[in-house]
Order: sequence, then structure tokens, then C-alpha cells
Amino acid sequence: MENKPTILIIDDEQGLRDMLSFALQKEGYIVLTAENGMEGLKKVTEQKIDMVITDIKMPEMDGITVLGKIKEIKPDIEVIVATGYGTMETAIEALRKGAYDFINKPFNLDELSALLSKAYETKQLKSKLVSLEELDRLKDEFFSMVTHDLRTPLMAISGTLELILSDEQVSDETKLDFQSERNKKLLLIIHRNTERIRALVNNLLDFAKMEAGCWQLKKQDISVISIINDSINGVQSLADNKKISITKHISLIGHTFKSDEILVNCDYEQVERVLTNLIANSIKYTREAGRINVYFEKIDKEIKFVVEDNGKGITKENLGKVFDKFYRVDPSLKKEESGFGIGLSICKRVVELHKGKIYAESEGLAKGSRFIFTIPIR
Ligand code: ADP
Repeated sequence: MENKPTILIIDDEQGLRDMLSFALQKEGYIVLTAENGMEGLKKVTEQKIDMVITDIKMPEMDGITVLGKIKEIKPDIEVIVATGYGTMETAIEALRKGAYDFINKPFNLDELSALLSKAYETKQLKSKLVSLEELDRLKDEFFSMVTHDLRTPLMAISGTLELILSDEQVSDETKLDFQSERNKKLLLIIHRNTERIRALVNNLLDFAKMEAGCWQLKKQDISVISIINDSINGVQSLADNKKISITKHISLIGHTFKSDEILVNCDYEQVERVLTNLIANSIKYTREAGRINVYFEKIDKEIKFVVEDNGKGITKENLGKVFDKFYRVDPSLKKEESGFGIGLSICKRVVELHKGKIYAESEGLAKGSRFIFTIPIR
């Protein structure tokens, strides 16, 4: 077996527990044992268990009660109940309560072994089904998000074009006046929205490439300071629109070299994209006249980049989730500058491909956020 399944044996007879442990370990299972129901349930709660074999007749808590509780705590565990001779009714009750099957005591090992491998196969099939259902749900959600996020700028474009064309003085389209102040403003709206669609489509294509695993890094020795300067320059106009200040800090304590001498072996385009994405997010999620600090530090054999803002912050509960694909803390906030909730998951992939780490910190809502990532120098 490539992945050893774990079996828990719950039985008050020590001899039987020892014999089964020995036999099943020899067959490649990881075996845990418990001498009563309470101890068994504790193990079920605390450990990863695939299957349980429980005796029916036990002092304190009988096997049927144990089965019921296991199905409450971890319904995906397959349970086989070991019944005494002539207790058909109990066996049927166990099946009704969700047991995978029952086996009469005293049983022969080949029979038990066949039952266990069938139970494990069923468990794996069920879990594949659950992941397929989950994937299907995510796919539906994703499609409706993509449709919505692409339709919004498209509607803005077509509405604006209608305004231009409905100008009473325009009877002939060749005489459109693109110099008038009104039309210049309308053209800018069209430009902004086509840019939004372009960025969304590019992100989607890159995301698809990464998902398909055909993403190749083009590594070179790159000056860290040029990555930082280019990233900040790329989003400066977005920050200016919201009167947000971006300050650069370089920590070279204990080093003798100058900041522009620090090189890192990485895919320039991708690392610049990560940093740009983090700063653009900080701009997005920070109110007007907010502050953003971009730090970089050389620590041993890696470069640490930090983007810190004093914006809306992230709750503790959501800190780990923001890097999940399709995750958006509050989808309703994204009418103006929508993304698909894949920006940070792309960042995570890029950083991990470089064998670095990425994580977020925040003291909570309205307390600002800090996004940190590291890239090994070599
Ligand atoms: P999106 O396209 O929604 O911005 P991301 O993957 O970039 O997708 O971010 C996922 C979610 O993480 C965002 O929807 C937002 O809720 C949260 N987030 C990202 N950056 C910040 C930040 N600087 N401050 C607060 N929340 C943030």
C-alpha cells in the first residue's frame, strides 16, 4: 500500500487487540488500539484514522453507541462492528447506524482482511466524490465571478460608447469630435475599463498556466533595488489618485555594500509582479491619504520584502485564507476594481517556485496589514 491506512481496534480483550495489531501491521496497516469506547473516541477525535473495528459487547459503552458517536465526530471513518454469534438484530442496527459492515466473532483473518480492503476502497471513492463535488461548486462560483467581473467593465465601455455616439451633432460617425473635453473624458473611461479587462484576462491566463504546471521561471541575477523601484513606479499613479504615500526603506545594518549592489537570482518579471500586486492591494484596501511602507532587508541567504499599509486590515481568521485561490474577504467591496481573488494565490505560487515564503500579518480590522515574502539569493 503506498499510503498506509490507519485502523483503530476498540476491544476490551487484550489478547484479541494484540493478535489483530500484529496481523494487520504485517499487512501494511498502521494500527492503533483502545480498550474501551471512551479511549477509542478520544483517539478518533485526536488522530487521523481511516477505519475502526469495534467490538459490540463492551462494559461502560457498547459498540453501537461508539459507532453512533464516531459517525457524529468523523462521518467519513468506515466502521466495522464485530458481533457475537447469533446477534443478527444488533448487526442490522449497526448497519442502519452507518456501519460499513459487520463480522461475526470469532472471525478468520482472511475474511477480516478482505473486508478491510473493501472498506478502504469505498472510503477513498467517497472522498474523491466529495472533492469532485467541491471542485464543481468552486467552478460554478468562479464562472459567475468571471462573468460578473468581465461584464461590469464591458457594460461601462458600451454605455460610454453609446454616450459618445448619441451626441446630437454626430450624424456622421466620421465626424466624431475626439478633441472636445466631454469626449476626452469619456474616452478615458473606455481606456480605464479596457485596461481592467486586459489585466483580468492576463491574470486568468497566468493562473491557468500555473494550475497546469507549465510555468517556467526565467532566472537571472537581478538588482533588488530595481525590482522595488519598478514595482513602485508601476503603481505610483494609482497611489496618487488616492493621495496615498509610498515610502521605501532599506535595511542594510551590518553590511558594507550599497543597496544597488545587492543581487538576487530570480525571475525578474514574476518577483516584480508579486511586489506590484502586494502594493496595488495595499492601495486598494487603504483609504484616501493612507500610508504604505515598502521595506527590504538582506537576511543571511535571503532577501525579505515587506509591504505594510495602514488600511482596512484583516481579521485573524482570514489571515491564512487570503492566499487561497478565489478567496475574497468581502466580494461586495470589489465593484470598482474587481479581481478574481486569484492575485495572492498567484503570488504564493511564484514565491514558492522560488523556494521562498509568503505570509500576512495584521492586528485586525482597521489596523492595517503587512505582507511579507522572502526570496533566496541563490
Ligand atoms: P482580489 O482580486 O480580490 O484583490 P487577492 O488574491 O489579491 O484578490 O486578495 C484576496 C483578498 O485578500 C482580497 O479580496 C482582500 O479581501 C484581502 N486583501 C489582500 N490584500 C489586502 C490588504 N493589503 N489589506 C486588506 N485586505 C487585503
